[in-house]
Amino acid sequence: MSVVLITGASRGIGAATALLAAGNGDSVVVNYRSNEVAARQVVDQITHNGGAAIAVAGDVAVEADVVRLFEAGIARFGRIDALVNNAGILEQHMRLEDMSVDRMQRVFSTNVIGSMLCAREAVKHMSTKNGGAGGGIVNVSSIAARLGSPNEYVDYAASKGAIDTLTKGLSIELADCGIRINAVRPGVIYTDIHASGGEPDRVDRVKDNVPMKRGGTAEEVANAILWLLSDDASYTTGALIDVTGGR
Ligand code: NAP
Repeated sequence: MSVVLITGASRGIGAATALLAAGNGDSVVVNYRSNEVAARQVVDQITHNGGAAIAVAGDVAVEADVVRLFEAGIARFGRIDALVNNAGILEQHMRLEDMSVDRMQRVFSTNVIGSMLCAREAVKHMSTKNGGAGGGIVNVSSIAARLGSPNEYVDYAASKGAIDTLTKGLSIELADCGIRINAVRPGVIYTDIHASGGEPDRVDRVKDNVPMKRGGTAEEVANAILWLLSDDASYTTGALIDVTGGR
């Protein structure tokens, strides 16, 4: 069984991925930024069901936190086999002309720099060229990378475009290092992230634009993430998998 490190796993898609991975027998490092109570609930649910997990605080945008996060996971479980770069933020709906540079930097620091820092630490540990055992990385992008999120958050959409490009480039860079790197691009999923944009019920407002006429669940995204990490996807790298109900 694998050791999976999931960033932003205190709620939403990250928490669903942690619970599903643990249900498959994987050990899980549950990273969170500030909500310790929620992260502990995820860990308690896993351990209550006989699984193994630890909660580790850390801001993925802070290099020292990311280094400590990987050290904590390796200290507890002996190794890391898989990384899910899930932590991500968006901010209040607005047009680009109204966005502050602080906001742009917050969004890019978490969504892009954070994912690159975590990938860097994972590669140092997992690459067969560094004496590691290989492994898998799944980046959580967004369909926003394709749609652009006009009038809502083009900064967020652009950050996810960067994630798609990172996925493609790194997948080739590491193809002969025993590491597969793929991305999932969720559509509108029922989680708390939409409250950050100022519209907690956004999924219900836009769901009729989805060909399947409904929002997705965090578990439906988690299933795709864990498939990409599994041996069933052993010849898949550099793929961007849309989980969007057809959008
Ligand atoms: P969410 O419910 O808002 O959860 C976000 C998680 O990320 C929380 O666990 C949060 O921790 C953590 N986090 C935020 N900033 C962090 C940081 N700097 N360092 C470490 N952890 C951090 O979000 P979600 O909807 O599950 O989204 C997960 C991913 O899916 C994101 O990358 C998002 O862009 C992507 N996505 C979501 C949707 C959707 O419709 N929901 C669609 C497309 C893509 P705390 O609770 O401790 O703050």
